[in-house]
Amino acid sequence: MKCPYCGFTQDRVVDSRESKEADSIRRRRECERCEKRFTTYERLDEIPYMVVKKDGRREKFERQKILSGLLRACEKRPVPAARLESIVNEVERFVVDSAERERTSGEIGEHIMSELKSLDTVAYIRFASVHRDFKDVNEFKAELEGLLSSHSHAASEARSRGGKTHRTQASSKSTEKKRP
Ligand SMILES: [Zn+2]
Repeated sequence: MKCPYCGFTQDRVVDSRESKEADSIRRRRECERCEKRFTTYERLDEIPYMVVKKDGRREKFERQKILSGLLRACEKRPVPAARLESIVNEVERFVVDSAERERTSGEIGEHIMSELKSLDTVAYIRFASVHRDFKDVNEFKAELEGLLSSHSHAASEARSRGGKTHRTQASSKSTEKKRP
């Protein structure tokens, strides 16, 4: 399993258990190079996890589709690939955690947007413009203004502490704390 932090392919399993529905195995892994821990879900399923589209159609959940959307939004942006992979992992966990084995594309999109919002403003706006399907330039402007006012305080604070390092630490901490 590839380490989401450093990309190294060797790890050891430190904990392993079945999910509530006994349809997946959750493994806690530790990278043998950077020693960070991450979680993987291995599915025992014949029935796929589904995404319910806006028009009610269902399609199979695929990690690759989530990643493609993220890559499009983050094109030429200073976003590390490992960070994108960890967003994909979070989204997958969000879908796997559903008792109904499905999530709506709206729920998934909002989930991704909340991750992108703290990661890269341009990527966030690109993703939001596709996902929220802005009807006109005023909707787009409203979203942008809301974002700028909520960001201006946080951004100046991050800058004064030396932005980049601060943000990296915060994001690895937040993936860590959600795990029991
Ligand atoms: Zn690693």
